[in-house]
Amino acid sequence: MSEENIISQPKVGIVSLGCPKALVDSERIVTRLRSEGYAISPDYQGADLVLVNTCGFLDSARDESLEAIGEAINENGRVIVTGCLGAEAEVITSRHPGVLAVTGPHQYEQVMEAVHEHLPAPDHPFVSLVPPSGVRLTPRHYAYLKISEGCSNRCSFCIIPSLRGDLVSRRIDAVLREAEQLVASGVKELLVISQDTSAYGQDVRYARYNWKGVERETRFIDLCEGLGELGAWVRLHYVYPYPHVDAVIDLMADGRILPYLDIPFQHASPSVLKAMRRPANQEKTLDRILNWRARAPELAIRSSFIVGFPGETEEDFQFLLDWLKETKIDRAGCFKYENVATAKSSQLDGQVPDEVIDERWHRFMALQAELSDQRSQSLIGATVDVLIDDVDEGGATGRTKADAPEIDGAVFISHADNVQAGDIVKVRVTDADQCDLWGELASN
Ligand code: SF4
Repeated sequence: MSEENIISQPKVGIVSLGCPKALVDSERIVTRLRSEGYAISPDYQGADLVLVNTCGFLDSARDESLEAIGEAINENGRVIVTGCLGAEAEVITSRHPGVLAVTGPHQYEQVMEAVHEHLPAPDHPFVSLVPPSGVRLTPRHYAYLKISEGCSNRCSFCIIPSLRGDLVSRRIDAVLREAEQLVASGVKELLVISQDTSAYGQDVRYARYNWKGVERETRFIDLCEGLGELGAWVRLHYVYPYPHVDAVIDLMADGRILPYLDIPFQHASPSVLKAMRRPANQEKTLDRILNWRARAPELAIRSSFIVGFPGETEEDFQFLLDWLKETKIDRAGCFKYENVATAKSSQLDGQVPDEVIDERWHRFMALQAELSDQRSQSLIGATVDVLIDDVDEGGATGRTKADAPEIDGAVFISHADNVQAGDIVKVRVTDADQCDLWGELASN
């Protein structure tokens, strides 16, 4: 390929907003663009056109998306919008009539059609520039693995099913093939994502496929078993506490899957969970979690909660705090309830005043800080496995098995010569705060 051809490559800038699932959509689009010969521009000025992948979940995320579109128009002028907010094209075009095109979530074909229309592909695609594992926007040593699109639950505060549709699971052999290629390309940690990971395969009645001579069902536990054979860290996100999830705890106890579960509980009070129409809201989660902890003592649970949901009483809120103390959720994010105009919950009686929501949020965060601090302090003196994310000037930063990238804590290692990103090393913990740990390389 001549230098002249490289110089004339059309360049697309990407702004990716929202959750890891949106990041995976961006990666797919980037892979398609690269395979057709487009280059990716790291800045607005160098781009012939900018793609903005939006989030439309909360009103605050919609505002952020609309601002990002405005910035791209000001800085570049030629903008195509995709992603969750793209499902409501009129919201975008009424505020930004100058956008070139709007497409919805995971509409890869439509995005590419819009790009072709406004920035034609070069004649000779640089197909060889795309590795078999696709193009990733995450560092080389970890990757998100998206196992399904959409969601068949109908939580009353959520508009994702109306944006992304019902659950559509990928074939298990296709997911395992992608995971195997990622590991072969140097990935050390696979982060399994979806809207409801525990529901994987329900929509296809757990269809069976052959993978490496073994019949496997498109089912949560079969997927975990298959991924557990690849020799990488496997981290599960967006799992709900259904009874069938118990089986994966044995894989964690055996060291085949990371002892980590990201379960968006959102609340603990049965009446609030019912009003939220949460999946698995009838299950005895407290007993279930205590049982999991007995079987896999290393298990770290990350969760998110909403305070101030319509109808939440002081009693409901106190129930949540007591439940947190008993379950000792390791990592918790807390959101203040916000009405989303098109969500069913915005019509519910018993809207909680903003000052009460604020006060409950502060009480929640104070308790969670105390619990996180206790957990971190208990690790001082222990030796833990750490996956290195970054190395600089003799030191390194990494994560334990209990820490997902971007959302959980980090481990800061002093004097870490001879390590590189992607290495898994043993670290002796010497200090800790609520979120992060400090330590030194253990001499095995
Ligand atoms: S499980 Fe509930 S909150 Fe999550 S995407 Fe589905 S409907 Fe929305």
